Amino acid sequence: MLYKDEAVVLRTMRLGEADRIVTLVGRNNGKVRAVVKGVRRTKSRFGGRLEPFSYVSLVLWRGKSDLHTVTQAEVLEPFRMVKEDLDLLSLGSVMLEACDRVAQESEASSRVLNLLIESLHRLSYDGSPLVLAGFLLQLSSIAGFAPSMNRCAECGRPASWFSPGQGGAVCPGCRSSDAEEVGTAVLELMSDLAVPPTATPRPTSRLPSADEEAMAGRLARFYTEYHLERRLKSAAAAEALARF
Ligand SMILES: [Zn+2]
Repeated sequence: MLYKDEAVVLRTMRLGEADRIVTLVGRNNGKVRAVVKGVRRTKSRFGGRLEPFSYVSLVLWRGKSDLHTVTQAEVLEPFRMVKEDLDLLSLGSVMLEACDRVAQESEASSRVLNLLIESLHRLSYDGSPLVLAGFLLQLSSIAGFAPSMNRCAECGRPASWFSPGQGGAVCPGCRSSDAEEVGTAVLELMSDLAVPPTATPRPTSRLPSADEEAMAGRLARFYTEYHLERRLKSAAAAEALARF
């Protein structure tokens, strides 16, 4: 069956002499793995259209196997700036990898795809690592594990510590031994980053310092990695159990 979808290419892998397998996050079909035939030949009609970061409109063929086949591809946005700048490339690569782990097969991923496209646009004109931090926090929320940032995740009291394992911000009374003291300015910054940017930002008492920005970025990444890892482990455990 032929079908259309819009997608961002997350990664690619060689297949034999001339073909390639691309992993995509699609608007209607979630995560899809598809073969692109003859893409590595010099006269390929796909050329460089199906590279990581490219936002594309596709026609695909779905047969009996999980592996679909790309029959047509048109680039909607190549995100060339992200591909060509090493700093942006490394920030953007973390976004692609996180999407790869959050998106599920045959589950519409419009919210994940929209967030990814918007974040890659922002990365192109504002190369700040905070764009990545905001992306990861918003992705956590879409995936259902948003951290607590204003109040203690355990008791709801004002918080100034942070612990990924406890679900984000924690108060001095509830903190576990792996919690880190971060202060309220960092937590406020993270809570601002966790919502999509709007035309009228919340008035803040002062701009965050470079150290606070760096810490917010590190915590956002640490938190998301911790929870993605845990999800992968529990999915693997559920799969192992299902075999019995
Ligand atoms: Zn508490």
